[in-house]
Amino acid sequence: MKEDRQQLQWVTREASRCLFCYEAPCKEACPSRVDVPQFIRMLRWGDIKGAKRVIKRDNCLGGICAYVCPSEELCEKHCTFRKLGDPIPIARLQKFACDNAEYSGYEVLTDKVNKKIAIVGAGPAGLSCAHELRLLGYQLEMFEQEKFLGGTVTREIPNFKVPNEVIDRDFRELCTEEIMIHHGVSVSREFIENVLSAQFDAVFLGMGLAQARRAQVAGENLRGQYDAETFLKMVKEGQIGKLLGVCVTVGGGNTAMDCARTALRLGAIRSIVSYRRSRREMPADEAEFIKAMKEGVEFLWQTEPSTLNGSGELQAITLARTEPSGECGQDRRSFSAVSGTDFIYPANAVIWSLGKDRNSMLNDVAVACQGTVDKETLRIGSSKFFAGGDCISSRQTVVEAVAQGKRAARSMHAYLSAR
Ligand SMILES: Cc1cc2nc3c(=O)[nH]c(=O)nc-3n(C[C@H](O)[C@H](O)[C@H](O)COP(=O)(O)OP(=O)(O)OC[C@H]3O[C@@H](n4cnc5c(N)ncnc54)[C@H](O)[C@@H]3O)c2cc1C
Ligand code: SF4
Repeated sequence: MKEDRQQLQWVTREASRCLFCYEAPCKEACPSRVDVPQFIRMLRWGDIKGAKRVIKRDNCLGGICAYVCPSEELCEKHCTFRKLGDPIPIARLQKFACDNAEYSGYEVLTDKVNKKIAIVGAGPAGLSCAHELRLLGYQLEMFEQEKFLGGTVTREIPNFKVPNEVIDRDFRELCTEEIMIHHGVSVSREFIENVLSAQFDAVFLGMGLAQARRAQVAGENLRGQYDAETFLKMVKEGQIGKLLGVCVTVGGGNTAMDCARTALRLGAIRSIVSYRRSRREMPADEAEFIKAMKEGVEFLWQTEPSTLNGSGELQAITLARTEPSGECGQDRRSFSAVSGTDFIYPANAVIWSLGKDRNSMLNDVAVACQGTVDKETLRIGSSKFFAGGDCISSRQTVVEAVAQGKRAARSMHAYLSAR
C-alpha cells in the first residue's frame, strides 16, 4: 500500500516535470510515434487508463516496448528536458501506465471489408499489421511456423528483460478476434506463388531474420555449445536450468549481452564475452554493454576462437589475438587473427552469437515481383506484397517492427481502397 502510494507520487512528480512540448522531439524519435506528451499529461492528473489508451492506440505492443525499448537511444535521448537536467523517464512512465490499467477498448469497423489479406509471420511486425487491418474490418489469415505468437519476443528475449505476463497481456489486448491463425505452417516460395498470391487480395511478409549463423571451427561437434537462438529458446522453455563452470559467449551484439547475462543467472561461475574487434567497434548498445558489465560479465577484446577442446564434452576454447587489418565500411575496422598468439581458455559452455542472415525468401519475392521494398509504403514494387520488421530493417527492435507493421497496414488499406 505504502509502496503503491510512493510509486504514484513518483509518477506524478516525474509527469509534472514534462514540458508538454508542442513539436515533441520524444514523439518524433519514437518509430511508432507514441504521443508521449499526451499520455504523460494524463498520468499527471491520475488518468492511468487514459494514458494506456493513448500508448496502445499508437503502439499496440506498448506494454512490451516499455520494458525492452532502447529508450535511452530513442525518446529519452531527444527529450527537451535533457538540456535542463535528467530527461523525463518516459519508458518507466509507460511501464507504469501499461502495468496498472487493463485495456479492452477497440472498436472494430462493423462494416466488414470484403477483401482477404494474408500475414506471414506472427512476430511483432505481423501482429501489429494484423491488429491495424482488423480494426479496419479486413478479413485476415495468419501463417506462423511456430505454435506460439510473438516471434523473437516470445522465443528469445530473456524473461529478465520482459516477464511472460507482460508479453501475454499485450497479446491478449490485441485485436485478433476473427483472425484465422494457422500455426505450424512454414510458408514456402511455392506456397506464396500458388496459394497466397492466387487467393488473397494483399499479403504482408513479416518473417524476421533467417536462422543464426553457424561457427566453423574445429571441435564444433563437442557437447556444451549452442547457437544463441537455441540457447535462449531452451532457457525460456526450461530445457536449460543451470550452467556450471565457465561460459564463453562469442560475439559482440545485444544478443551476445543477453546470452552472457543469462549464463550468470543460470549459475556460471564466470561469464566471458569474446569479441574479435575492439570495444569501439562492438555493435551492442552502450546501455546493454553497461548492464552486462555491472552484472559481472567479463570481456576479452580482440580475440577469435580457432578450436574447441575436449573429448565428447567441451572443456576449453582456443582463442587467438586479432589486430586491425583494414576498413570494412560502416565506420568499422576489420580484424584478423595474428598467427602464433593462440591461448587456451577453460570453458564448460560456448554460446555462438554471430548474428543472423537476411531472410532469402523476401529476396525471392522481390525478384518475382520485379521490384524492391519501398521505404515509405513498404510495398514491393507495384505488387500486392508488402513487407516489414526485421526482414527489411537495419535497426532491429520491437518498436521498429511494430511501427512498420502499422505503416504497411495503412499502405495496404490505401492500395486496396483504390482498387
Ligand atoms: C536475443 C534477442 C534479444 C532482443 N532484445 C531486444 C530488446 O531488448 N529490445 C528490442 O526492441 N528488440 C530486441 N530484439 C529484437 C526484436 O526481438 C526484433 O527486432 C523483433 O522481434 C522483430 O519482429 P519481426 O516481427 O520482424 O520478426 P520476428 O520477431 O523474428 O518474427 C517473425 C515471425 O515469423 C515467423 N516465420 C518466419 N519464417 C516463416 C515462414 N516461412 N512461415 C511462417 N512463419 C514464419 C517466425 O516463426 C516468427 O514468429 C532482440 C532480439 C533477440 C534475438
Ligand atoms: S520531449 Fe521531454 S519534456 Fe518534451 S514532451 Fe517529450 S517527454 Fe515531455
